[in-house]
Amino acid sequence: MPTHDVTLTDLVTELRNQRPDADIALIERAYAFADAAHKGQLRMSGEPYITHPLHTAYHLVEMHATDPIIVAGLLHDVAEDTPVTLEQISAEFGEDVANICNGICKVGKIKYRGVQRYVENLRKMFLAMASDVRVIVVKFADRLHNLETLESIPQKKAYRIALESLEIYAPIANRLGMGDIKGRLEDAAFKYVMPKEFEWVSKLAEKSMRTQAPQIQKVIDQTRDELSNSGVNFADVHGREKQLYSLYLKLLKHERDIAKIYDLTAIRVIVPSVADCYAALGVVHSKWTPLKGRIKDYISQPKPNGYQSLHTTVFYDRGAIVEFQFRTIEMHEKAEFGIAAHWKYDTDKGKKETDTRIKQILDTKELEWMEQIATAKNPTKSTKKFLESLEELKLDVFKDRIFVYTPKGDVIELPEESTPIDLAYAIHTDIGNKISSALVNDAIHPLDMPLKSGDIVEVIVDKNRKGPNPDWLKFAKTRHAKSKIRQFARTTIADWIKSALPSPLRKNKPQ
Ligand code: MN
Repeated sequence: MPTHDVTLTDLVTELRNQRPDADIALIERAYAFADAAHKGQLRMSGEPYITHPLHTAYHLVEMHATDPIIVAGLLHDVAEDTPVTLEQISAEFGEDVANICNGICKVGKIKYRGVQRYVENLRKMFLAMASDVRVIVVKFADRLHNLETLESIPQKKAYRIALESLEIYAPIANRLGMGDIKGRLEDAAFKYVMPKEFEWVSKLAEKSMRTQAPQIQKVIDQTRDELSNSGVNFADVHGREKQLYSLYLKLLKHERDIAKIYDLTAIRVIVPSVADCYAALGVVHSKWTPLKGRIKDYISQPKPNGYQSLHTTVFYDRGAIVEFQFRTIEMHEKAEFGIAAHWKYDTDKGKKETDTRIKQILDTKELEWMEQIATAKNPTKSTKKFLESLEELKLDVFKDRIFVYTPKGDVIELPEESTPIDLAYAIHTDIGNKISSALVNDAIHPLDMPLKSGDIVEVIVDKNRKGPNPDWLKFAKTRHAKSKIRQFARTTIADWIKSALPSPLRKNKPQ
């Protein structure tokens, strides 16, 4: 449905389909309240302002949000842009909703420009996540609608909003496991950040899809038949087209050659149980030949953002290739809606999983550091250093994660592409400073070679080692490791200077 056509009736219908127990009267009351508050206000496009909170709320329904979040979506600009106060919202809709609205106001106010703006933005999103993650969810929906209506915004501002979405909003959505909103934010922003690349990818994808679609449909139909004939239960088999921005990133990795992209369309097989996932995989493998080394079991070994599915790639027709993904209904909901999938059931287990997820992302040290650089008096003084630290921060915060194991079985989470040096510093500064070599899965592993998820890594230390080699800075990936290596280099230089200075005591010492 084109989003500009959404009405209150559409929202209510969608919500009823999704959650029969939703409090429709409450949603309608919130809409009426927002409508009255925004009366007479217009958006840049000339439309009545209420269209914006309405679409925000609609996106929240699409994201499987709960009632208080949808109400906050409808009211999110009321306290900020109208005479209505948070106290009035609280009196009308309760403290919980008013608190979410307050959180949204706080995230929105950014004082700085340039790179400092970026960091402050990031910090505010993180603070909001720490206090109430529902604030972030409303911000995603708010931002998605703003992106969808960027055409009426001056070009420079539109670019800034789009870039911010691509660099801050989408990566946070990704780390929260919210695949659906992440992809939608990216595709909506992509068009404004890199218009030429966007056009190239769109045309390329459209052309390939057009030729592939009938064949893929045939494979989907055959899969349904094969599963039924073999007595394997399934809820749904459908094709999903790769989103444009993620296709773009993959093309960059593969010489811009679309023939090398195997998952342009993936076939998703949704089944009732985990056992059915493996059974369905068996059925598909007996019908079509799998590609070697392309079977990935993210069910027994979930991705660090919680993603679970069974993947395989098969030849289906004279060298033509397609990826299959097998998952349970619950895994599917989690992959699409992330933390929001838990709220629907509102269980203790769901709450715990949300908390753990957020703790994985938030690191108080990072927050403090962001605070420091966001409020630095004169960051331009050492712009190069500042930008360097910013790149490191982005890497630490947004890179996909890997899990590695110590020989004792402890799990350590690191950004993708981390090396044994990063791991050593993640364990302890002393281990980092004295690392001499590493064994990965019992084999010697160069210190500059990235680790992979699931590796068992033993760090070998040399007790007599004086300290880190400054060359490690070239391949250490995490900000933590780099700063420790630099710190050591600084202290040794300081010590050396000190020891080189003439010391009156030393001079007077009897020889
Ligand atoms: Mn808004």
